[in-house]
Amino acid sequence: MIRIKPYMEHPEGKKIRDLYLYMIAKVMPFRPEDILGTDVIIVEGEEIRAENFIEQSGKRPCSDDEHMDKNQRFEADYLIAARTVYRVDQKLYDFIYDEKLDEENPGKIPKVNQENLHRLLFSRMDYLDQDIKELPKIQGDDAKLLLNLVFRYKAFSRSAYISKLSGYMDVKVCPYCNRSYTVTLSKGKGKSRPQFDHFKSKMKYPYFALSLLNLIPCCGLCNQAKLERENNILYPYFDEMGTDILFRTQIENGIRYLTGAEQTEDEFSVVLEAVNDVDTDIVIRSVQSDQVFHLTELYNEHKDYILKMFSKRYIFNDSYLKMLYQIFGGLFSSEDELKSTLYLMSLNKNEWGKRPLGKLTHDIDSEISELISK
Ligand SMILES: [Zn+2]
Repeated sequence: MIRIKPYMEHPEGKKIRDLYLYMIAKVMPFRPEDILGTDVIIVEGEEIRAENFIEQSGKRPCSDDEHMDKNQRFEADYLIAARTVYRVDQKLYDFIYDEKLDEENPGKIPKVNQENLHRLLFSRMDYLDQDIKELPKIQGDDAKLLLNLVFRYKAFSRSAYISKLSGYMDVKVCPYCNRSYTVTLSKGKGKSRPQFDHFKSKMKYPYFALSLLNLIPCCGLCNQAKLERENNILYPYFDEMGTDILFRTQIENGIRYLTGAEQTEDEFSVVLEAVNDVDTDIVIRSVQSDQVFHLTELYNEHKDYILKMFSKRYIFNDSYLKMLYQIFGGLFSSEDELKSTLYLMSLNKNEWGKRPLGKLTHDIDSEISELISK
């Protein structure tokens, strides 16, 4: 489990936010001004404002009653959304809307609480404000209704812009497992993009189905492993195992593996260990993440890679590395960078997400360094 940058820390953060708002305003049954407010967003170089959003985006109404004109069909969408939310849960209704449904004037669309709608869309999923936290869990058919008529995730995920969004996010390797590439291809004929895991299940919290920080770009295997389970796992936008909880080898029945000797996979197993004084909560959630994504089980399938690392460091031992650094010092800014060339992988935490097994490489290298220093 490695950390990825949330949009507000991301170098492409403004592009991510603008494109996301554009997609949301297109699929959600709210007036564009309820989503965009007075913001000017920029999508593919074009300035877009709420007042001309419908023409510029080609937003289409869902209602298809032939007797209505386009405007009336949009109004019908907005009204169906309000009634659906009201029918499913009144507390949720009061959170999203500022006005009651008007029984005497049933065609009147109630005013949306734009601030609260924004809070739903942009909240962190780990520290929810009190009143959002108090919103109810929604089950079964009610959840499906909200997903179909209000928080329309299917339409969002089928948007022509979804690959552009994941391209801006640029999550190259799955943050949950750090084993599978999740690169986005969107320009040529080939198509590829990460899946989006809902950190908080969309079947229980349909009102978070479209929330930007609830969408975790990840690999299919991890998305499948997590499904709708609601576990107390690490939240990749803000948590990490980092350099506190590390993959280590544990001796099982031999120590020849430490030299990288061939066919010594049975001599050790791979475990996760808290090596520093770390918050108990992070330890608990790391254990949960391990269980949900079967991390140690999967990493025990990468013992050949670990053996190659041991063998490399057996040959390129510390004094040899020091000598190389002296000779080629001009090429490398640090000894770690020289080691990166050896492993074809950066040991720097900020770059673990560039290649599969980035964290494992760092962790095993630090284990080897500790062994050498003993
Ligand atoms: Zn994964």
